[in-house]
Amino acid sequence: MLAENYHTIIKSIPQHVRLVAVSKTHSPEKIRELYQLGHRLFGENKVQELVAKHQVLPEDIQWHMIGHLQTNKVKYIAPFIAMIHSVDSVKLLDVIEKEAVKNNRSIPCLLQVHIAREETKFGFSEEELLAFMSRGEWQKYKHIVFAGLMGMATFTEDNDQIRREFRSLSRLFHRLKEEYFSQNETFNTLSMGMSNDFQIAIEEGSNMIRIGSLIFGERNYGNKSVG
Ligand SMILES: *Cc1c(COP(=O)(O)O)cnc(C)c1O
Repeated sequence: MLAENYHTIIKSIPQHVRLVAVSKTHSPEKIRELYQLGHRLFGENKVQELVAKHQVLPEDIQWHMIGHLQTNKVKYIAPFIAMIHSVDSVKLLDVIEKEAVKNNRSIPCLLQVHIAREETKFGFSEEELLAFMSRGEWQKYKHIVFAGLMGMATFTEDNDQIRREFRSLSRLFHRLKEEYFSQNETFNTLSMGMSNDFQIAIEEGSNMIRIGSLIFGERNYGNKSVG
């Protein structure tokens, strides 16, 4: 089942698009199943769960943090995290820089941009991000690799709406790449697209998709109700 789901997705996406298997709420055994098929790139949205899984699973897994990250929790993932998708404030950048220094490494980060209509989604607005970049402050973060942008579209059936949102993020990505990173190959990742909208995201230029339920099936959050 899992293998079938996985191969179906792999076959349906272009080679330049990287797949983050979003394993949140799923057991280490399930992750191991995918690992045994050769997959190495996994995404989690909670620090505690991420750290616990990192401890019991193979060292060569690349762990991506995709959920909202509180500054006081950066220290737990800084030693090993392969990429943080959800950088949504300057304060968080400050803390990631500090923890990266402590661990004597650089941490690849994506700046999360708020593109959805929903108020609940985290991220910089386009205006905030343009202002931040033009102030030049970003250059002081010597241990952060500015690797690109991440965004989530509105949760809606309206595909045109989704497409518009992804398109605006893609434009912003290319604009920043040209204006600030033209000498620098590292700003190269546009993380957008989930189970319900990854095809549109790829059409609009995504090169990293984050897929959970299409691989692992529906998530079971126990008896907690989730929105
Ligand atoms: C849960 C989650 C995903 C994956 O969602 P699915 O709909 O299960 O594919 C992708 N991105 C983020 C930020 C998530 O929290």
